[in-house]
Amino acid sequence: MDLMIVGAGPGGSFTALEAVRKGFSVTLMDKKSARYAPIICGELLPSKGLLADYLPSRISDLLAYTLDATLSSDVVINRIKRLNVILGDVSIGSFPFDSLVVDKGAMIRQVIDVAEEEGAKVLFSTTVTGCIEDGPRIKCSVRGRDGESFITASKAVGADAYPSTLSGLVGASGLGPQDLIVATSQRAAGKFDDEEAVIIMDPRLAPGGYAWVFPRGDGTHNTGIGVRGDAAWRGSASVLDLHKRFIDKFSLRPLQRAVLSKTIPVGGLVKAGGSVYLVGDAVGSVIPTNGAGINPAMITGKLAVDSMTQGIDYYSLLYSVFGPFMKRMVDYRRLADPILYDHEAVKRLLKFPKPLLRTALRDAVMGSSKASTSFMLGILSPFINSLAAGQRRH
Ligand SMILES: Cc1cc2nc3c(=O)[nH]c(=O)nc-3n(C[C@H](O)[C@H](O)[C@H](O)COP(=O)(O)OP(=O)(O)OC[C@H]3O[C@@H](n4cnc5c(N)ncnc54)[C@H](O)[C@@H]3O)c2cc1C
Repeated sequence: MDLMIVGAGPGGSFTALEAVRKGFSVTLMDKKSARYAPIICGELLPSKGLLADYLPSRISDLLAYTLDATLSSDVVINRIKRLNVILGDVSIGSFPFDSLVVDKGAMIRQVIDVAEEEGAKVLFSTTVTGCIEDGPRIKCSVRGRDGESFITASKAVGADAYPSTLSGLVGASGLGPQDLIVATSQRAAGKFDDEEAVIIMDPRLAPGGYAWVFPRGDGTHNTGIGVRGDAAWRGSASVLDLHKRFIDKFSLRPLQRAVLSKTIPVGGLVKAGGSVYLVGDAVGSVIPTNGAGINPAMITGKLAVDSMTQGIDYYSLLYSVFGPFMKRMVDYRRLADPILYDHEAVKRLLKFPKPLLRTALRDAVMGSSKASTSFMLGILSPFINSLAAGQRRH
């Protein structure tokens, strides 16, 4: 069976590796010219143990599978021990957070190299400009170093982020601006603890999202902000201005001139059905409460290949494994939305006891599926709504 994969990020490259190992004849294409750069990412991954108590066991097992397959000691840059959460101007304290900062470019390059060694054909500087169904096959127009051409395959994977070039072939639902995050990325130096990641929930800096500092272990950090689409495109300040405000407020010194940015989906899985496989950001697999998308992209790639080898419908498999979990994470994100956009609501939230806030935010960041989390957030929900309602009254 021949398989073409559009996009060689975490989702596409991992799909290629899984598929080639199952005997598929794989062509992996990416529009980037460098294997694999540039990187627009915080590069933070959970350790294998971090989420085991929080995630449903099937998802936890799949996460461990992707970590085992892709993490070698030479791609891990730093080990993080704690996460410090700052709400507005106030730290609500840190909690244990065993996680890793990785060299994402090197990690993806290794996966692609192994897939290639095991038989995949890899084409960089190759942009897929459109795809159609051509009888039982998929036919895509491709622009490469040698000009325009067509490529056909019996199966196709859209791993080219959101919205995918192939989304029309599976009737994929669209996401509105509130379900998208425009995120920036810039390497910077500054005085932060090398073992502590920091996230800052402050609507004045990152409306609808959060800012982050993920230490690389040498006094430099991966930094950025995530701003919700509606605030990014209709807000009074540009995302670039907000990024600069954040850099200045935390006395960070940029080490790269350019501020790179990219849009990611945070509205949960898109609805799709048909014979083309959307994986990773293309299918909306980013965890809506924390913006993590690297391993979820790989997991969806594995599920796509599993469905091909088992002869079962991919979307049914995806929605049964991931659907309830992702729905819960979208609900949690929506619950927090009134606060994420409104600084006055943040100030009122800070009147709650810090240990309670820390536990609620820890569980949201961990993507907790525990019954105790639902219970706690269920109790907090009316208070959170009243915080925002209080703001509307003022
Ligand atoms: C600023 C920022 C920080 C982030 N931080 C983290 C983090 O710390 N941890 C984490 O887990 N996640 C993080 N994420 C999310 C994570 O980066 C993504 O969810 C993840 O990379 C998705 O993988 P993917 O393979 O689906 O898509 P991508 O990584 O976006 O890869 C898509 C690939 O498709 C290629 N492509 C696109 N269109 C075409 C085309 N038409 N033809 C050919 N090729 C094409 C692109 O060049 C790209 O290589 C962050 C995202 C951003 C923007």
